[in-house]
Amino acid sequence: MQKLKKHQKIYVNRSINMASIRSLGFDMDHTLVLYNRVNFENLAFHETLKKFIANGYPEELASLKFDPNFVIRGLLVDRERGNLLKVDAHKYVKVAFHGHMKLDKAARSELYNSRGFKADDFLTVDTFFALSETQLYIEIVDYMRRNPGKIQKTFTEVYKDLREWIDLSHQDGSIKTKVLMEPSKYIVRDPHLVDTLVKLIDGGKKIFLLTNSDWAYTNSVMTYLLDNQHEEFQQWQDYFEYIIVSAGKPNFFTGTNPFYEVMTEQDGLLKLHRGPLVPKNVYHGGNAILFEKLTMQKGDQILYCGDHIYGDIMRSKELFNWRTLLVVEELYDDFKKTEKLQPELEKIMEAITVEEDLQAQVQALRSNISNQERRHKSKHRAKQDESKFLVRIAELQAELKGKEETLETQHKAIKELISTREKQFHPVWGELMRTSLEKSRFGKQIESYACLYTSRMSALRHYSCSEKLRSYRDVMPHDL
Ligand code: 5GP
Ligand code: MG
Repeated sequence: MQKLKKHQKIYVNRSINMASIRSLGFDMDHTLVLYNRVNFENLAFHETLKKFIANGYPEELASLKFDPNFVIRGLLVDRERGNLLKVDAHKYVKVAFHGHMKLDKAARSELYNSRGFKADDFLTVDTFFALSETQLYIEIVDYMRRNPGKIQKTFTEVYKDLREWIDLSHQDGSIKTKVLMEPSKYIVRDPHLVDTLVKLIDGGKKIFLLTNSDWAYTNSVMTYLLDNQHEEFQQWQDYFEYIIVSAGKPNFFTGTNPFYEVMTEQDGLLKLHRGPLVPKNVYHGGNAILFEKLTMQKGDQILYCGDHIYGDIMRSKELFNWRTLLVVEELYDDFKKTEKLQPELEKIMEAITVEEDLQAQVQALRSNISNQERRHKSKHRAKQDESKFLVRIAELQAELKGKEETLETQHKAIKELISTREKQFHPVWGELMRTSLEKSRFGKQIESYACLYTSRMSALRHYSCSEKLRSYRDVMPHDL
């Protein structure tokens, strides 16, 4: 196989033999369909902001600007305090902001790190749709911080309003109508989407679509992306064995909704469906138990690809044993940076080796000094050794002081190297999957829940349909 670049690869947490996968399911938004995130999130931000003002929030809010580069996925929102947090895999809050004000170490400790961490107190920014939502929350919190008393609500109440109005914006057409009016402004074509689907079909896999988007939106977006792109698959439906819209994930995996058949292309009329799912028909709703039964497949024969760790991955894997591929779009850029910054990482590792060596020397000197002092205090020592002892202790202490200073300088240099490297990924939050050199909470979740992960679903085209994807993650620290 050709040597793949990092951003072209699929990473394996759990070994999967592709030969035993009968069907591959795809989520639509941010999995098959990529969005121009700046344009899309800007639209969602401003459409929702309009609803705030229409519902009595100050007119001045209209001047709030959307910053596409502040919020990243994996952060936690503390709705009660109006804070945004980056947390490591050990639940330690490494970076925190109140609106746009950064919290110092003492504030982080007081609010979070010196207390028990209850994940339920926070919301995770885990979908792309949540980025604009969180950005708007942070802007309003910051407005409240700068203008005390102008909004007579708690941060929790503001978040509740936000949730209601962003939810409405997704349903009342204020976002989707605009996307469909100018698809080229909002939708990005993955140039390898068609090749990837065709390769999987040629490899004997059945393909299905399982999306939370409704029929009208799904049909329009998929038509834009896939119609007339391949001579054998003229219509987008031709690629898919089963098509399920308005699936309501994660409830698709936990609930008992029936399948409805979508009867007409134009108005999406629904009819309760009974009996096996008919290939090429379009279904609405449903649930995973019925899906497996009606399509005669078992969980471990299905590989589901999605971008939402909670909605697409966790439940499907935990409850149905579906194999899962998480698409983490941001890794496309992060991996390119990781490759470019490899020399910096090596420099950090070398500096850490020097630091460890210095630490050992400092420790040895401290032991030596306390050993000398103990012997000096001993009643068996010879009196004439006094002056020799004082000279020796002074020498050792001077040496220790020198080494401690060098160690401190080395420690600061490492911190600086790590921070400079992190800022290349994101000036505020650093690398998506890490905090400093350790896994971030998001990185840890990906490792725990996704069997596979990659930056684009089209990475699948680099692998054969009977490939054995092997995991090396069971290497433990003592193996290295
Ligand atoms: P999927 O990723 O499963 O293909 O679908 C995502 C769908 O969920 C999109 O149609 C998107 O508009 C919708 N969506 C994302 N966030 C929200 C939300 O907060 N409320 C509602 N009602 N829909 C949402
Ligand atoms: Mg999605």
